[in-house]
Amino acid sequence: MSPVVHLTEDQIQGLADSTLRGPEGMAAREHADTCEECGAELAMYGALVQRLAMLQDPMPPADFTSGVLEAVAHREHHLSQLRHTVLAAIPAAMVGLLAIFGWALSAAPTVHVDRLLEAWTVGRHVVSAAAPVLEAARLPIGLGAFIFAAAILLVLVRALRAGGAPATASS
Ligand SMILES: [Zn+2]
Repeated sequence: MSPVVHLTEDQIQGLADSTLRGPEGMAAREHADTCEECGAELAMYGALVQRLAMLQDPMPPADFTSGVLEAVAHREHHLSQLRHTVLAAIPAAMVGLLAIFGWALSAAPTVHVDRLLEAWTVGRHVVSAAAPVLEAARLPIGLGAFIFAAAILLVLVRALRAGGAPATASS
């Protein structure tokens, strides 16, 4: 009586996960069907393979996909809300900037007037200091000062018109 050659562990595993095919697979299957020992081992491996297959594809939680989608949607909603806030803030910021510009432009004439008064005061001091020396030439100097002041006024009016136009257009 020849010694019984049982299936190797690899062969039993191959039978269990159906990777052992062909003549070798058929022979192994035949042996497992007739040999109690190998049959029991194959049944055990088969059960193990089944359990492994179940472990390999764990069922995701029922609300997994919806939960992920909800999180994504929530994030998207938050981002779009942020975008809307920014978009809504832009006109407000522009209005604020225009208001600041308008204020600066409306403040500009005051600055011009201040500068004019400053120049006028300095000019008067110069004129009064030079008056005794230039007594004879008072009329030409007076005329010159008048023309000078008129020129400055003209420039001032032009600056007011140029500066005032955007301010009135924005309001
Ligand atoms: Zn056997």
